Amino acid sequence: MMSCPFCGHAAHARSSHKVSENVKQRYHQCTNIECSATFCTSEAVEEIIQPSNRKDLPVPEIPLSPRMRKTYIDYPEFKQSN
Ligand SMILES: [Zn+2]
Repeated sequence: MMSCPFCGHAAHARSSHKVSENVKQRYHQCTNIECSATFCTSEAVEEIIQPSNRKDLPVPEIPLSPRMRKTYIDYPEFKQSN
């Protein structure tokens, strides 16, 4: 649940759409009836903590968490896009 950037009240997600494979945009509306601001947020997969156990799946272009690089030494190197 996001807080309204104007009044701080809870805002409900009204709709969302996929921007790219690992990024989603959501539209929110403030639940404070006197405010009713609407705003947009984005949610992105930033790091992999533990790769999939399924070795048949392609590896997404998402960097491995720096903490986990010693554990998963065969994980490919991907740069953060932003
Ligand atoms: Zn508000």
